[in-house]
Amino acid sequence: MTTITRFAPSPTGMLHIGGARTALFNYLFARRNQGKFLLRIEDTDKARSTQEAVDAILDGMSWLGLDADEAPVFQSAQAGRHVECAEAMVANGRAFRCYATPEELQARRDEGEAARAAAKQDGVSEADRQSLLRKAEELLAPFRSPWRDGGEAPAPDAPYTIRLRAPDDGQIIVQDGVQGEVKVAAREIDDLILLRADGSPTYMLAVVVDDHDMGVTHVIRGDDHLRNTFRQIPIYQAMDWDVPHFSHVPMIHGDDGAKLSKRHGALSTTAYRDMGYLPEALNSYLLRLGWSHGDEEIFTLESAAKVFSIEAINRSPARLDLAKLNDVNAHFIRACDDARLLTLLKPWLEEAKGEPMDDTIMERITAALPSMKDRGATLPELAEAFSFLWSANTDNLNKKARKALSGDNLERLSDLRQAIANVEEWRDTALQQALQSYCAENELSFGQVGPPVRAALTGGLPAPDLAPVMEWLGRNETLSRIDFHLARTDMQSE
Ligand code: GLU
Repeated sequence: MTTITRFAPSPTGMLHIGGARTALFNYLFARRNQGKFLLRIEDTDKARSTQEAVDAILDGMSWLGLDADEAPVFQSAQAGRHVECAEAMVANGRAFRCYATPEELQARRDEGEAARAAAKQDGVSEADRQSLLRKAEELLAPFRSPWRDGGEAPAPDAPYTIRLRAPDDGQIIVQDGVQGEVKVAAREIDDLILLRADGSPTYMLAVVVDDHDMGVTHVIRGDDHLRNTFRQIPIYQAMDWDVPHFSHVPMIHGDDGAKLSKRHGALSTTAYRDMGYLPEALNSYLLRLGWSHGDEEIFTLESAAKVFSIEAINRSPARLDLAKLNDVNAHFIRACDDARLLTLLKPWLEEAKGEPMDDTIMERITAALPSMKDRGATLPELAEAFSFLWSANTDNLNKKARKALSGDNLERLSDLRQAIANVEEWRDTALQQALQSYCAENELSFGQVGPPVRAALTGGLPAPDLAPVMEWLGRNETLSRIDFHLARTDMQSE
C-alpha cells in the first residue's frame, strides 16, 4: 500500500514554525517510504479563513521546498461529500437525528454545575452530598442524546443536528507512533455532532472524511490533536473505514520551557526568511528539534529522507534555541553554491549599502565571496561583512586606524604604494610577494607595514588578509584608497 501523508493547516494566519515542522515530518515520512505527501487547506471555518493566510502557507511551504505531490485539497469544497457521509451513517444506524436544542444542552450543563456547587455547601448531609455529586456527574458527563436510539421528532419541522452514536462501552485505543498506546474509556466520548442544525459539517467529520478520501495512511500532527483522535476513530468505525496510523508530535516550547509564544522569537516561518536564514537551514534545524538520528546535526531534505523514522521522534517537547539555528544557518551559508548565495545576498547587500549595487562592486563581491562565506551566520550579517568592498570608511576612521595612518606610517604607505603599483599580475599571491619583499628590503616586520595599508584600504572595517583584499578591490581602487590618505593633511601630525 502506498504511504500517504498530509499536512492540513487551517488558513487563519501565518505558517507557524510548529506547523512547518509538522509538514516537514509528513514530507520526509512520505519520501522515506516512496509515498505521497499531500496538502489540505482546512478552510471550513469561513469566518477565520482568509486567502491571505492560504497564500502565506503556500509561500512558506514552497520556500522550504516542501512541495506537495498533488494540488491542494480545499476542505470547504468537499462539504457535499461530508454531508453524504453523515447521511450514510444515519442510514446504517451509526448516527442519528438529534433534536436537543442548544438551550436544552446549556440548561443541562447549568443544572449539573448547580448540583456540583450545592454539594459543596455547608450543612449538606453526606447522603445528600453524594446524591448531588452523582447528579452533577451524570449531567456533566459527555452528552449521550435521548434520541440516540431513535424516537419521534418533537415537531414535524423541529430543527435537528446529526450526531454520531458514540460507542457504548469498551475503550478507544490509539497505537500512537510517538506516544505509544493511549486509550480512553468509550464513555468519555460524546455523541458528537457531525452536521450542525444548519446542515454544515463539523470539523471532526470533515477531517475524517477527507483523510479517508485522500487515502491518508499516516496522520502525523501536533499532540494538541490527540484528544480529537479519540473522537475521530469512532467516525472511521461508523463508516467501516480503515483507521490511519496516528503519530502525535510534542509541541515546540520556548527556551524557558514555556509554550512557544511571540516573546520567544518569531513564530512565522517566512519571518526567518525575512531575517536572512536559508530554507535548508530552517528545515535542518526544525527537523532536529523533535527528531534525532544519532548525533548528526545537519540534514538536507535528501539526506533526511533516507533515514527519517517516526520512532525517532522525541516524546518530550523540544525547546527553540536560536543560537543553534544560527550555527546551522552558518553551516548552510558556507555550503551554499556561490551563484545562489550571491542572489540571496543581493537584497541584503543593497540594504547594507543603502543603495543599489553597481556592477563594479558586484564584481568585487563575486570575487571575494568564496573566501568570505564564513563571515556571517545570517545573510544580513554576511552582507555587512562585505562593506569594505564599497566603502573605505574614510569618514569613520576609528582611533586605531587614525594612528595607523599618521607619522612615519604615511611614509611607509607611500613607499609601499610604489612597490605594489608595479606588480604585474594583480593577484593575491603576487601582491603578497610584493608586500613581503618590501618588508625584507626595508628590514621591516609585517606588523609595521600591515596596519597603515589595512587602515587605508578598509578604514578599520573588518576584512580578511590584505593581499586578497587588494586583489578584490582591483589595482585602481587599491591605489586610489591609498592615495586618498597620502594626500590628506589633517592627520600628518597625529
Ligand atoms: N487543521 C488543523 C490545524 O491547523 C490540523 C488538523 C489535522 O492535522 O488533523 O491545527
